[in-house]
Amino acid sequence: MQRIAVMTSGGDAPGMNAAVRAVVRKAIYHGMEVIGINRGYNGFIEGDMWPMNLGSVADIIHRGGTVLHTARSKEFTTPEGRAKAYENVERFGIQGLVVIGGDGSFKGAKVFHEEYNLPVVGVPGTIDNDIPGTDYTIGFDTAVNNVVDAINKIRDTATSHERTFVVEVMGRNAGFIALKAGLAGGAETILVPEVPFDINNICNKLMRGVKRGKLHSIIIVAEGAASGLEIGQKIKELTGFDTKVTILGHLQRGGIPTATDRVMASLLGSKAVEVLMNGHTNKVVGVRNSETIAYDLDEVFGKKKDLDTEMLELANILSI
Ligand code: ATP
Repeated sequence: MQRIAVMTSGGDAPGMNAAVRAVVRKAIYHGMEVIGINRGYNGFIEGDMWPMNLGSVADIIHRGGTVLHTARSKEFTTPEGRAKAYENVERFGIQGLVVIGGDGSFKGAKVFHEEYNLPVVGVPGTIDNDIPGTDYTIGFDTAVNNVVDAINKIRDTATSHERTFVVEVMGRNAGFIALKAGLAGGAETILVPEVPFDINNICNKLMRGVKRGKLHSIIIVAEGAASGLEIGQKIKELTGFDTKVTILGHLQRGGIPTATDRVMASLLGSKAVEVLMNGHTNKVVGVRNSETIAYDLDEVFGKKKDLDTEMLELANILSI
């Protein structure tokens, strides 16, 4: 394989730049050329792509977001759109494609491979950590640390005013960010979409806490579990407590990637190049039990990654 292309697609995630850097440098190290595709599948269709050299990925390992930019492309979901993208595959002499993104981006890669037989490999990049088959996705660690940082700050003001705080976090239909950040931040209650909850139980726990002298309570709500605003309103109604709601939103996605995200992104980007060099296709790279692995793209689709419910139980016990 002489020339591969790399893109970032779907939602941006801190650490994507470290993955791009790893793909570019690993490929060049092995004598290949790399084409960088701007703006995900939109750039693929429009031919918004350029040859990347060693210097093109200098000074990006510490930057959040993605220097290749990212997009959601309606056109790529149509056969006509993909045909235009294939014209660029031929025009630029691309022999393999690395897609850094979420499961939607991988679906696009799979469809494209089926139609045009271009070898593809996916690198999981999403703060939600919701991709089946891998313990870890790029951006998750930074997002969790961003939430913990926010909880620390909210805790200061919550203690001073003896208030109840509801903090809504991202994660789409999964509770990975809520669970890990909630445990690390010492939250009283963590609501995740994977486990049903009863608002009366939450309020009873809050009132027990107040009785035993707790100065504040922090409730983490995964966006897929409920609306933070509605939970805050209900708590207010049922307990009469002064309850404030913070929706962290896109703050969670930004900022300097943590060392863990940079290291994992470097390992995964490098692994993706190895997969293509070894003549494999339709793979996703990931991490299982601290080992970097490659597995079939099909393992990602139609499944839901399990949440560690033991960790959730522990969080409940520790916040008794
Ligand atoms: P995130 O998890 O951050 O949202 P994602 O990769 O899942 O990232 P999506 O918006 O679902 O984000 O997918 C990214 C792009 O992949 C879509 O905008 C579309 O261009 C392409 N894509 C998704 N599904 C398909 C499909 N079935 N066929 C072709 N292309 C697809």
